[in-house]
Amino acid sequence: MTLTYTPVSEIPKIVQGLRSAFNAGVTRSLDYRKQQLRAMYNMISENDAAIREAVFQDLHKPPAELMIGESGMVKQECIDAIKNLDKWAANRSVKTGIVNKFDNVHIRKDPLGMVLIIGAWNYPLNLLLAPAVGAIAAGNTVLLKPSEVAPHTAALLTKLLPAYLDQRAYRIVNGAAAETTLLLEHKFDHIFYTGSGQVGRIIMGAAAKQLTPVTLELGGKSPAFISRDVDIAITARRLAFGKFFNCGQTCIAPDYLIVERGIEDKLIEAFKASILEFYGTSVQSSNSYGRIVNKSHFQRLKGLLDETKGKIVAGGEMDEDNLFISPTLVLGVDKEDKLMEGEIFGPILPLMVVDRLVEGVKYVNQGDQPLALYVFSKNKKAIDYILDHTRSGGVVVNDALVHFIVSNLPFGGTGPSGIGNYHGKRSFDVFSHERSALIKSMGMEKLNDLRYPPYSEKKTRW
Ligand code: NAD
Repeated sequence: MTLTYTPVSEIPKIVQGLRSAFNAGVTRSLDYRKQQLRAMYNMISENDAAIREAVFQDLHKPPAELMIGESGMVKQECIDAIKNLDKWAANRSVKTGIVNKFDNVHIRKDPLGMVLIIGAWNYPLNLLLAPAVGAIAAGNTVLLKPSEVAPHTAALLTKLLPAYLDQRAYRIVNGAAAETTLLLEHKFDHIFYTGSGQVGRIIMGAAAKQLTPVTLELGGKSPAFISRDVDIAITARRLAFGKFFNCGQTCIAPDYLIVERGIEDKLIEAFKASILEFYGTSVQSSNSYGRIVNKSHFQRLKGLLDETKGKIVAGGEMDEDNLFISPTLVLGVDKEDKLMEGEIFGPILPLMVVDRLVEGVKYVNQGDQPLALYVFSKNKKAIDYILDHTRSGGVVVNDALVHFIVSNLPFGGTGPSGIGNYHGKRSFDVFSHERSALIKSMGMEKLNDLRYPPYSEKKTRW
């Protein structure tokens, strides 16, 4: 399936249509929202084979990884939203003083209006549709902009969405930077963006011109601390899962390891054992291992391996025609190494060996706050120390990646790794306006005397 970019002349019409639908109240009723969420659930369920095929063509993504990291999650988000919508959308009463004792004072959860969601290529289904679940649940009209870097998934969603969801309220616009730039000239009521910090800055700049609030789901170099006391086999297995899932192209993949000196050799051996267990003797023939998304990312990763001063101690095999890079470990990497400059975003895992984990804490704190931070240790004091002396979007102890699928944990970054968070009820909140409401009773007018002129000395003594 080929992806056709939306002609730019159509963009204003699409935006106006969504604005009119919102103003006409198309998306207001809770029943309508639930019905649309059910339709989204059905769209994913009924087209499982086509979705598998499209995401496979884009990323060679194994079906199990699609289910765990994308389709299963979005369906669960739909179920949670449908089940809880009445509760989430209900007015919340607040406590008042004597003056408002007879009034109805509460917080409404109103939709924001027309919102824009811009997705990234690495989880092309999830990163577009999971935020959309929140936006739909909250009663907004939604413009979706899939990543053009995963064109098969974008083309499939462009075909499927109109067959399931109400076209008056939910539309897709396709394109790259040029089309997105034009989109950003329009006034939205919220922009939800997932992708690099570099483009995140462009999005926020464009949003600022319209005073539009943003959620930015960005990336960063997520470290994993490993103390000497851990079970090395289990640690390597969990980290190998976290790092090589989606071929390392995960925003919360462990980017590099900070390993306490003395266990590095055993850890490398344990990693090799996990790689063998997961992908067999020929990783390239394994059905459980993905591919790099395109040639330019392949070249970027190859360049990193060419320039590192570290030693490749596992993997390092590459096949450009097949966009294949094997799970690769690099030992002897220091702070100045090429691999430590930016987010790796591929199946290359550098190990930085330190005498004490405190050195790693200092190192992490010299850089930007990462999106995730991992600690592997049995020592509660060491764990607490690291958590208390670092900052990151989220943190997991003794595992990697798994916080992403706990819908009650808000998912997002801090500082350069992002602004805002979502998942579960948080997604509903992101796209809702907490509107303060005071419904005054017409009775008890006597109570108001105190605030009306003419003022007197007596009225100022409360
Ligand atoms: P990408 O290339 O898919 O870009 C993201 C979106 O930005 C796309 O829809 C693209 O069309 C749009 N875009 C690109 N250039 C633009 C421009 N100049 N103006 C306006 N829009 C533009 O994805 P990417 O940026 O390569 O994504 C990788 C980054 O995203 C990594 O840093 C990763 O960590 C981060 N990421 C974060 C999360 C998260 O949930 N926090 C998830 C996935 C990826």
